[in-house]
Amino acid sequence: MLTRSALLYLSRREGLKEFATRFSLFRKLTTRFIAGENIDEAVAAIRQLNEHGCTASFDHLNESVTSTAETESEVREYLDVLAAIDDSSIDSNVSIKLTQFGLEIDPEMAYRNARRVVEDAARRGNFVRIDIEGSNVTQATIEVFKRLRAEFSLNDVGIVLQSYLYRTMDDARDLIKLPARIRLCKGAYNEPPEVAYPDKKNVDDNYVRVMQLLLSSGVYHGIATHDPRMIDATKDFAQREGIGKDAFEFQMLYGIRRDLQEKLVSDGYQMRVYVPYGKHWYPYFMRRLAERPANIWFVLKNFLKG
Ligand SMILES: Cc1cc2nc3c(=O)[nH]c(=O)nc-3n(C[C@H](O)[C@H](O)[C@H](O)COP(=O)(O)OP(=O)(O)OC[C@H]3O[C@@H](n4cnc5c(N)ncnc54)[C@H](O)[C@@H]3O)c2cc1C
Repeated sequence: MLTRSALLYLSRREGLKEFATRFSLFRKLTTRFIAGENIDEAVAAIRQLNEHGCTASFDHLNESVTSTAETESEVREYLDVLAAIDDSSIDSNVSIKLTQFGLEIDPEMAYRNARRVVEDAARRGNFVRIDIEGSNVTQATIEVFKRLRAEFSLNDVGIVLQSYLYRTMDDARDLIKLPARIRLCKGAYNEPPEVAYPDKKNVDDNYVRVMQLLLSSGVYHGIATHDPRMIDATKDFAQREGIGKDAFEFQMLYGIRRDLQEKLVSDGYQMRVYVPYGKHWYPYFMRRLAERPANIWFVLKNFLKG
């Protein structure tokens, strides 16, 4: 637990981020979790996933952006991604972070920027998922999502909820009334006990409760986890309730539990892989190490092997 907190603390250190991203040597460490530096590399990775029966979601790595000019280049990047999906005929949607679009500068700016991407995705028949970040921006993220959802349809824009937050069951009940497409995950940030369950067991129990609520809603949701117990609970519940395998999708992160991804596909489940790419890999990469500190040794071993 201490290691997780320490790694999550380091994930927020700007100095380390600057240091690590400046040297391509460090970039080499990340290849297991990050699909490349540019859109073409991510397209190639997604094409391979599609060949293995998985759909995907693009994530252009960047977050907590502090300049308006940078938010503009993030919007342009996503418009290019949406065009690249159509041009290459791959099966993928996109995931965005509102702090990448300026949420911490001005929520109105984040809304306007996200709106441009959602509008383009809707025009192309694609879908935008709004990732959820630290609890300091949960409420603002949900508010922007609700504004977008009021303007666009169920299949144009969706959101994410984290089972570690106490508020999540209420948010899930509220959002399915819209209705909304929700990705359920456990949550990847360092949260205090005032807002999030400190114990894994409570996070997992809440995950199962929220998953059951989502699956019962009749909307197509994403069950995002690598945890075999969460996956089994989802399969069991769906089977018991007569919910078809095509009524929801499992989601996993690029490079994690590929064996399980393939198994779920071969068992007839929908499987979407979240594919991060880009130069700003540091916070994302550190959160992946925090989830499983054994990854540090895995990464170093592969690095030393060359
Ligand atoms: C598609 C997708 C989108 C996500 N979007 C968000 C988001 O918007 N906001 C957010 O806060 N979080 C997001 N997450 C991250 C999520 O919140 C968790 O931090 C992460 O998925 C680990 O939780 P778990 O459900 O896999 O269970 P855990 O209990 O953490 O792990 C269960 C098992 O999965 C395997 N595993 C888990 N993580 C790793 C890893 N890094 N490396 C290797 N093995 C691992 C291990 O075998 C582990 O024992 C997303 C996750 C996925 C899959």
